[in-house]
Amino acid sequence: MDKRAASIRRPRRSASALAAAGCVVALAAAIASTQGGEPRWSDANPDRGPRSAVSSPGLRAAVESSSERTAESAREARRRPRPLPRARPSADPPGPARPVPAPPVPAFEVLLGDCCSEPRGGLPVDAIVLHATELPDEPGTRDLRRLARFFARSALATHVANDAAGNSSRMVGDDRLAYHATYWNPTTVGIEQMGYSSRTQAQWRERRTQLESTARWVAYWARTYRIPIRRCEVAGLRYNKRKRVVAGDIVKRGVCSHSELDPRNRDDPGPSYPWAHVLARARAVARGASGSGTVMRDASP
Ligand SMILES: [Zn+2]
Repeated sequence: MDKRAASIRRPRRSASALAAAGCVVALAAAIASTQGGEPRWSDANPDRGPRSAVSSPGLRAAVESSSERTAESAREARRRPRPLPRARPSADPPGPARPVPAPPVPAFEVLLGDCCSEPRGGLPVDAIVLHATELPDEPGTRDLRRLARFFARSALATHVANDAAGNSSRMVGDDRLAYHATYWNPTTVGIEQMGYSSRTQAQWRERRTQLESTARWVAYWARTYRIPIRRCEVAGLRYNKRKRVVAGDIVKRGVCSHSELDPRNRDDPGPSYPWAHVLARARAVARGASGSGTVMRDASP
């Protein structure tokens, strides 16, 4: 377990800055850097500013007073996080409308509101993002409830989370963007899987109930938003000085790892995640969505 995550404190950054953060382990690192007085994610150069060229002492004092206020305003402006750019809709068109399987029934719902999510603004959902929390399992739903409290304190979120027992929790409605994937928040939905990116494939596959839950959520979202059940592809990633993604496109709509979307900051759900198994199960669930208990949905976000 990441020990920093266990002793997390409320960060002093605003929700908009924290919207740029992601999975739990990376969140802890982001908060640690903030508490250490790191500059915010602004590319403003603090060394670039006006210089006084006034020679009269009285006038210089007045101008310097004004300059001090101006400098303070500039410092304040630099302290305010500059909103990061946000993903554009993918040019890869949605697939045909097909029956939507019922999603898993969440064990509980704790909706994280304006602290951790915001309206999606009508943008399409182009990709489903799989995460790993880097947190341990706990009996019953204690692990998921703990995760929800952690997110609420930290201004982060996920649409749903699940654990080894196959329990799901709903934290953000799909009509809202959740603060889970930085630049990609507006055009993605996300699922946090209780577990570790360091797991071997055999260890992941022992968690069949959890993987089945993930596959069912993937099938549900894929059919709801007409997203092919395949690995996504992104291109054109560009970064700012803080190594945050500030440009990129989803060139193939699909299912992404968090690490694909933010490779300089994230590695979840890990290199040994059993993608082939999960996507095969999701396809099977989606194919079975023509019987009773399924509904047709349009592709509105
Ligand atoms: Zn993540």
